[in-house]
Amino acid sequence: MTDVASWDREHVWHPYAATPADVHVVTGAKDVRITLQDGRELIDGMSSWWAAIHGYNHPLLNQALTDQVGTMAHVMFGGLTHEPAARLARTLADLTGLPKVFFADSGSVSVEVAIKMALQYGRPRGRRRLMTVKGGYHGDTFGAMAVCDPVNGMHHLFTGALPVHVFASLPPRELSDAYLDELTVTVGAHARELAAIIVEPVVQGAGGMRFYHPAYLRRLRELADEHDILLIADEIATGFGRTGELLGCDHAGIRPDIMCLGKALTGGYLSLAATLCTERVAEGIGVLMHGPTFMGNPLATAVAQASLDLLAARPWREEVRGIEAGLTEGLAEAAGLAAVKEVRVLGAIGVIETREPVDVRRVQDVAMARGVWLRPFNRLIYAMPPYSITPGDLAAVTGAMVAAAQAL
Ligand SMILES: *Cc1c(COP(=O)(O)O)cnc(C)c1O
Repeated sequence: MTDVASWDREHVWHPYAATPADVHVVTGAKDVRITLQDGRELIDGMSSWWAAIHGYNHPLLNQALTDQVGTMAHVMFGGLTHEPAARLARTLADLTGLPKVFFADSGSVSVEVAIKMALQYGRPRGRRRLMTVKGGYHGDTFGAMAVCDPVNGMHHLFTGALPVHVFASLPPRELSDAYLDELTVTVGAHARELAAIIVEPVVQGAGGMRFYHPAYLRRLRELADEHDILLIADEIATGFGRTGELLGCDHAGIRPDIMCLGKALTGGYLSLAATLCTERVAEGIGVLMHGPTFMGNPLATAVAQASLDLLAARPWREEVRGIEAGLTEGLAEAAGLAAVKEVRVLGAIGVIETREPVDVRRVQDVAMARGVWLRPFNRLIYAMPPYSITPGDLAAVTGAMVAAAQAL
């Protein structure tokens, strides 16, 4: 037990870190709290990277998993199917209006599948490139990495190994005719080589926690239709209510041709993602050349169904609106700090953007001293708490974020 830290130091890679990594040992998690080996309890401001929307150790999700494990943990999906996967596909098709569902094992893989769908669909017409905007994040595998922001996505480390796609500049928060024109010109200039346009709707997550005006999404939809290009919405971070609407695309009132879902899909229990598409795209593709070993895993699809049932039953719109108000109020005082460039809130996402990159460990130490878990990166101290967080715990999260910004 006490050896966890040393075993970890000896053997384990952690996200975006050298080995050995600077980590804390967790022994349990319940509701919005993570328990550390030394007995400390931390309120989780991160929902384990957008995933644990209902909080940890939820009795209904636990029940769904234990019921399923007693029936069947896994069978191959080639030539076989089962109720958890088929039922979840129906639920996702109803939620999104996209009837064809491909189950992938992680968000990055679902983006690879979306890109593959678009390239297979566009191939007969010679459409082999993608367009996106700067500041995006779509995952860490090579196809996904090639449409991440070239600077944040560290393209220079992989020059020569990544396909080169078309990038428009950063989408602004405010409505700008000049930016709408830029999109029109960029798409027009490359229309005959573009298979798809891929964007995160309304919120750019790991690429910089930026929010942009939904009019740009509407313009991309129009341009895609005009030039017969597919629109891929990467809803992996924005899906399932996080922005205040069920899907990020709902802010713009548009439907993409292809959509990626992940992160909160299983309520933070297991790695599962999905790539959905229209009937037209599915027909145009025919045989899709992809098939993960653990595709449609019964445990993952069963717990995802339970998480979506729970979401449908909880007043998530009011909860997210309440969190939005709590974040807005709690973070307001950071806006006046010398080290702070901007404070912004959308739905259950709260961001303090600093002028200089922050010392991650220092921010975490300040937050942990106040009983809060945060994971800042670059110039961003941010939170997206579980929807079940209480106003008191939320105030602790925003208090820790402000204190961390004050300590810079
Ligand atoms: C996290 C994320 C991904 C990658 O998902 P993984 O499950 O980490 O592979 C892709 N796109 C967006 C928008 C994300 O936020």
